Amino acid sequence: MDGLKERIASIKCRIATAAKKAGRNTYDVRLIAVSKKKSAEMVIQAIEAGQTIFGENYIQEAASKIEEVSRPESSWHFIGHLQKNKAKYAVRYFDLIHTVDSEALASELGKNAAKINKIQDILIQVRIGDEDSKSGVEPFKVAELVKNISNIENIRIKGLMTIPPPVENPEEARAFFRKLKNISDEIRANNIPGVLMDELSMGMSDDFEVAISEGATLVRVGTAIFGGRS
Ligand SMILES: *Cc1c(COP(=O)(O)O)cnc(C)c1O
Repeated sequence: MDGLKERIASIKCRIATAAKKAGRNTYDVRLIAVSKKKSAEMVIQAIEAGQTIFGENYIQEAASKIEEVSRPESSWHFIGHLQKNKAKYAVRYFDLIHTVDSEALASELGKNAAKINKIQDILIQVRIGDEDSKSGVEPFKVAELVKNISNIENIRIKGLMTIPPPVENPEEARAFFRKLKNISDEIRANNIPGVLMDELSMGMSDDFEVAISEGATLVRVGTAIFGGRS
């Protein structure tokens, strides 16, 4: 795809600039190239341009793409809505699952991870500012969920993720990002054994710089790298 390499370089440069402006280390912010609805060939081109982490939303699409790409240096993150009956595939293919929002799902992931001797890294998806969304746990219930699932074997809670409601101006998303960071700080202060809270997955093509200034460690960028999706 024309210009893919340049677009990845440009996003990485913007990430570095945003991190520096916020007084943060560039290496503390990782770029996830969201490749949903994009071909295995495009992913391979991105890998050849130095990109390693890819984000996918649909288990079936991802499974066949990951098999086709078949590059051990690539790392895959699941960022879509996950149904319990797909937990088996999610643990097989993904290094980090961003969208855990119930005890039942966490427990299903733990069971399936145990079967393949894996410790599955997860994030808790928090619903911030988007009352219409069916995904994500409500802010006031996050601490309780984290506590309740912290002793499930074979999963490791690494942090939080959010998808704020669509806004006109990226600055309008700032308050949502700040809220996620505050929730994360509160939970970290609880010092729950085995709970890390060092990852904040927030920010997409239109607002990743704002998210970085509010503490994002993982930004999920699709359109600005791969172009629009039909
Ligand atoms: C599709 C998607 C993205 C990427 O969105 P862009 O606006 O294309 O950068 C990021 N996060 C999630 C959860 C997504 O579903």
